[in-house]
Amino acid sequence: MGLNAHASAFAPPTASDGLTPVIGPTREALKAALKERGVAGFRADQIWKWVYQRGVTDFAEMSNLAKDLRAQMAAEFSITRPEIVQDQESVDGTRKWLLRMPDGQEVETVYIPEDDRGTLCVSSQVGCTLTCKFCHTGTQPLVRNLGPAEIVGQVMIARDALGDWPSGKEDRRLTNIVMMGMGEPLYNYENVADALRIVMDGDGIAWSKRRITLSTSGVVPQIRQCGAELNVNLAISLHAVTDELRDKIVPINKKYPIAELLRACREYPGVSNARRITFEYVMLKDVNDTPADARQLVRLLRGIPAKVNLIPFNPWPGAPYECSSAKTITAFGDIVAAAGYPAPVRATRGQDILAACGQLKSESQRERAAAKLKAIQAQRKAEAEAAAS
Ligand code: SAH
Ligand code: SF4
Repeated sequence: MGLNAHASAFAPPTASDGLTPVIGPTREALKAALKERGVAGFRADQIWKWVYQRGVTDFAEMSNLAKDLRAQMAAEFSITRPEIVQDQESVDGTRKWLLRMPDGQEVETVYIPEDDRGTLCVSSQVGCTLTCKFCHTGTQPLVRNLGPAEIVGQVMIARDALGDWPSGKEDRRLTNIVMMGMGEPLYNYENVADALRIVMDGDGIAWSKRRITLSTSGVVPQIRQCGAELNVNLAISLHAVTDELRDKIVPINKKYPIAELLRACREYPGVSNARRITFEYVMLKDVNDTPADARQLVRLLRGIPAKVNLIPFNPWPGAPYECSSAKTITAFGDIVAAAGYPAPVRATRGQDILAACGQLKSESQRERAAAKLKAIQAQRKAEAEAAAS
């Protein structure tokens, strides 16, 4: 399926409450929607600031708008966020929110605090159409793309919960965004791009492109588009150093093989040693983890300002792989680092709340299904006991 057909087949639904959402449209689109209702353009700028700079959720708080206009806005527009279904905190401080959209679809967002930063791992789709063999999301069929409101909404919910409003506040807990949650962001490029433009708008959340990283399995045409239009940091899910293996474990490689992918990386604008492309490499025991693989990786990356992120494989029920041993991972990393590429091993965070890479949503859905089943069984048992007595 081409990307345009994909975009319309999996489009997010439009609001069903008859109200026009303020969160989601670009600033120009919001201006146009207000103009249609006779509201002057500069009001859109004021509303934009209330919503994205201060995080207000009620038009009544917009004190520089006339009372009549506040009432009109409340009658015709909405400032809703996704509903929080679950809010879990790990022993290591990682926090995971399960969010429900108005049509009942659910996604997860994960906050990862570190010493020098706080990162939000944002989802772009419900499920994924790509079928990378080691990824649990890839075993679930794509349900649909998320819209800009649902993507920005994840950031807004995290800011609400972390007390990070208004923008520009000192000691913000959330400082970076990675598009590394569920889904392939470049298969939902237009919605992701609108969402990131909103996040980067200087009068709103005002995040610099340097604090945003988009991770892709390698959708080459959209890597180029993303470089030209958004120029956020790029992370590539490489995971294999030969086309033969990558065709198998990251099947989009059949369409955009390694050489083509790396050409797009070489041409990505603004890359330097201070602003490197991250190559993600999941460590799969006896599959892609030999010293020869590490040496081939170094050869492939030659000339690209790169950093390699070694990700210990996170297992899931029925997964066809195991994680490489710690010794193998260290040996692999040492070879890459000796060639001048930083090669940190990604710490597994939030494992106790199933928030690690490749574990999102499906696991908590399973957990909740199991809890529901348990409750039904307990109720049946109680009913049977009551009937028997
Ligand atoms: N679709 C995008 C972004 C989401 S996946 C992409 O593929 O880049 C985020 C990262 O987690 C990717 O590098 C992905 O390959 C990795 N990942 C997926 N399943 C994993 C697992 N079970 N263990 C470790 N990393 C995994
Ligand atoms: Fe989709 Fe990324 Fe998982 Fe591959 S690794 S199936 S592209 S979410």
